[in-house]
Amino acid sequence: MNEHQQQLDRSAALAARDSRVLWHPCTQMKDHETLPPIAIKRGSGVWLEDFDGKRYLDAISSWWVNLFGHANPRINAALHDQLHLLEHVIFAGFTHEPAVRLSEQLVALTPPGLTRCFFADNGSAAVEVAIKMSFHYWRNHGKPGKTRFITLANSYHGETLGALAVGNVDLYKSLYKPLLMEVLTAPSPDCYFCSPGESWEQHSVKMFERMERMLEDHADQVAAVIVEPLVQCAGGMRMYHAAYLARLREACNRHGVHLIADEIAVGFGRTGTMFACEQAGISPDFMCLSKGLTGGYLPLSVVVTTDDVYAAFYDDYAKLTAFLHSHSYTGNPLACAAALATLDIFATESIIERNRTTAAYLGRRSRELANHPHVTEVRQCGMIVAIEFAKDKRSREPYPWTERRGRRIYGHALAEGVLLRPIGDVVYFMPPYTVNEAEIDLMVRIAAEGIELATCD
Ligand SMILES: *Cc1c(COP(=O)(O)O)cnc(C)c1O
Repeated sequence: MNEHQQQLDRSAALAARDSRVLWHPCTQMKDHETLPPIAIKRGSGVWLEDFDGKRYLDAISSWWVNLFGHANPRINAALHDQLHLLEHVIFAGFTHEPAVRLSEQLVALTPPGLTRCFFADNGSAAVEVAIKMSFHYWRNHGKPGKTRFITLANSYHGETLGALAVGNVDLYKSLYKPLLMEVLTAPSPDCYFCSPGESWEQHSVKMFERMERMLEDHADQVAAVIVEPLVQCAGGMRMYHAAYLARLREACNRHGVHLIADEIAVGFGRTGTMFACEQAGISPDFMCLSKGLTGGYLPLSVVVTTDDVYAAFYDDYAKLTAFLHSHSYTGNPLACAAALATLDIFATESIIERNRTTAAYLGRRSRELANHPHVTEVRQCGMIVAIEFAKDKRSREPYPWTERRGRRIYGHALAEGVLLRPIGDVVYFMPPYTVNEAEIDLMVRIAAEGIELATCD
């Protein structure tokens, strides 16, 4: 048996073994009868390689986590060094250099006023931390009636019960409603629904009126407003104008309500600035970060908050004001080392600046698809580009969801060596920042073919 055949058998054998013992995330496992999971052997840069030697361009950064390519030499080296020093230590009562350095750097990088880092180990957990801290802050300030949260329609904040409750994507949420706390839901400032002739700014500002009224009516019961700044990613890469965030910050101040910025997906340069909040010139009370934080290497998340919030918990133990929340892997040193190497790449390689050129090219090539008879919008925010298609271009009437047309694009792209994972009828690109022009050309060409295939009947 030759080596190639051995590798193929290894791949098939892995898929078969997988089907006996595994249960994959966000997947109807029966779908694997027609499209089994692909066993990946190695990654390098923007490419993933299977056991057949076939390569896949990771156009979605492996679920939005990867920033500087797979098997990045600088992050690899940092992990290697850390591994020889300390893999993990309890983070209550103990500390270590990677967590201290990372916190110093995050405090310096995040918008002014964010001065304290509380670590957790995934995005949903960070959202839970921010929700609990905000509620607890008001309680410590003698306002126990502030127990509610305002969220945006079509928002996503994770899958654990608190995070799911403040999210608003029906596909993930509706079934579990009996288990979830009730929230107040304001309409989204999403500019897909702009009227003809209306600018993004005008639309988002108009949509703010309902949020303002909700704050007016409920401020005494509301602990915080939680938003995904600029892009509602899991909600279909829907985008809105920074003017909404500026108004929201001002209104939250006026009404005595916290603002939680969930930058888990949009942080670390995705929207063209290091953090999306920068484009509105605002500082939230809580900023949740994860995903790109470690360059896509290891699970780590952090809530960065203010002196004011920190001070509300700081007292004698017997007052019982402390935040008694923990995760076993809080502040894991390996994850912190990967994050430090990631921030080092940002600092030494002018990434935000260089991304402007990449984003301009990505946008220019993607907009060529706007003329397609079923494409309703090509939208962009920094390094995120989304192409939405519908049954009727003019009325934007969508295809019935049961037709699963996006899945045809997924299948076609995989066959052609590109990992695209449409959200419903939205194809999007969120590539690692190391993607080059030829790779962008490939992504766009395969997406165009996929959209043609998905809309030709
Ligand atoms: C992915 C995501 C989360 C959840 O993060 P996990 O690590 O998957 O739990 C929360 N908020 C936003 C905006 C996200 O995109």
